[in-house]
Amino acid sequence: MSLPLLRQPKTQVTLQQRTRQSQYEQQFIILTLKSSIKLVVTSDSFHCIVNVGDVFKCVLCNTNMDAEVELKEYHKTLAEHHRLLKIYPYLEELGENLVRQIDSTNCFCTICSIVTSVHYVSRHVQNDEHMRELNKAVLRAETYKPCEEPPNVNTVDLNNKK
Ligand SMILES: [Zn+2]
Ligand SMILES: [Zn+2]
Repeated sequence: MSLPLLRQPKTQVTLQQRTRQSQYEQQFIILTLKSSIKLVVTSDSFHCIVNVGDVFKCVLCNTNMDAEVELKEYHKTLAEHHRLLKIYPYLEELGENLVRQIDSTNCFCTICSIVTSVHYVSRHVQNDEHMRELNKAVLRAETYKPCEEPPNVNTVDLNNKK
């Protein structure tokens, strides 16, 4: 089962929604992988937070929040949320595809910001849309130069010692 939350055609996005969306997407995180590939993803997708209609949903904690940026940012600081980020790390075998298994049946793809079934995930990372998003994340990392990094870019080192 996949939830195509962010898959509405762009033409249906109204100007107001687009403005809101760009506010949500202001924060980026640079991820450095073991393979030394760098990817830039939104802070929200790193934290498994998606925008569902009028609410933000943390799919990791299975929590809904009102669509207030402050609530969302506060959620990212919660100890329980960080505990879950640690318990559900990126699946090593999927590498730069940045997929976390978030429970026994579902995975979250950070690249696409969607939930997809564990059974479907190996096909998901090969589909065209995922590949396009992955390329964008790689390109974003290449175009970020240290002197141009906005102050809200965080670097997360994923080379955790095992
Ligand atoms: Zn959470
Ligand atoms: Zn994906």
